[in-house]
Amino acid sequence: MLITNPKPKQEILEFIKEEENIFILVCGGCPEACESASDKKVKEIEKEIKEAKKNITLTLKIDFLCNKALLTTKLINYIEKIKNSDSLLVLSCGIGVQALSKLIDKPLHPGLNTIYLGGFQGLWPSEERCQACGDCLLEFTGGICPVTSCSKSLLNGPCGGTKDGKCEVDNSRDCGWQLIYEKLKKTGRLKILEKLIPARNHQNMLPSPETLQLPSSDIEK
Ligand code: SF4
Ligand code: SF4
Repeated sequence: MLITNPKPKQEILEFIKEEENIFILVCGGCPEACESASDKKVKEIEKEIKEAKKNITLTLKIDFLCNKALLTTKLINYIEKIKNSDSLLVLSCGIGVQALSKLIDKPLHPGLNTIYLGGFQGLWPSEERCQACGDCLLEFTGGICPVTSCSKSLLNGPCGGTKDGKCEVDNSRDCGWQLIYEKLKKTGRLKILEKLIPARNHQNMLPSPETLQLPSSDIEK
C-alpha cells in the first residue's frame, strides 16, 4: 500500500485561493485504506472549502486513480462538471495526480503528500513515477513530477542542456522541464514558474514507522 498524508488545510486553501469552483477527486484505493482520504477526512476538507466561500462542483471517488484506463472510463461521465470547474483538488498519491494530468488539461491541486511506496502500487503498470518525497510539488509543475521526470530532479526550471525537447543526460527521454512548461502553458498557469521552490527536506523521504502510522501488524512484518 502507498502511504499518503493530508497536506495542511492552509496549504490547500492557498492553492485554490483565486478559484471559485472546485471539483474534488478522491482515490478510493490506498488513500482511503490509509485514511488520508477517508470519508471523514474528505468531509473535513469539503467543510474548509465551503467555509472559504468556494463552490464544490462535485466530490467524486474513483478506485485507483493510477489506473488510467479505469480513470478514463469513469471520468467520461463527468466531463461537463469538470469543464465547469476552475480546477480539481486531487486526493491521491503522486502517481494518481500525474495519471490525471496525462488525461485532462485543467489546473490540478495535490491534496496529499506521498511518503512511502513500499507496497502494492495500484492496479495497473503505470509509466508515472513518484519518489515519495513527502512534500508533493505537483501544484507548481502542472501535475508532472520534477523529481522523477527530470534526470537531475531540478525543482526550479531546466538545466539548459535540453535539445529538441530531449534530456541531455539521456536523449531517449523527454526533458521533464520541457513537459512541465508545455503543460503549464496549456492550462494558463505559466506564472506559477515565478515561484521559487525551496530545496527539499530529504528527511521527509524517510519517515519513521511512527510517522507512517501503519497498523501495528504491518510494522511487525
Ligand atoms: S513531487 Fe513527485 S516525488 Fe514528490 S510526492 Fe509528488 S509525485 Fe511524488
Ligand atoms: S535536460 Fe531537462 S530533464 Fe534533462 S537534466 Fe536538464 S532539465 Fe532535467
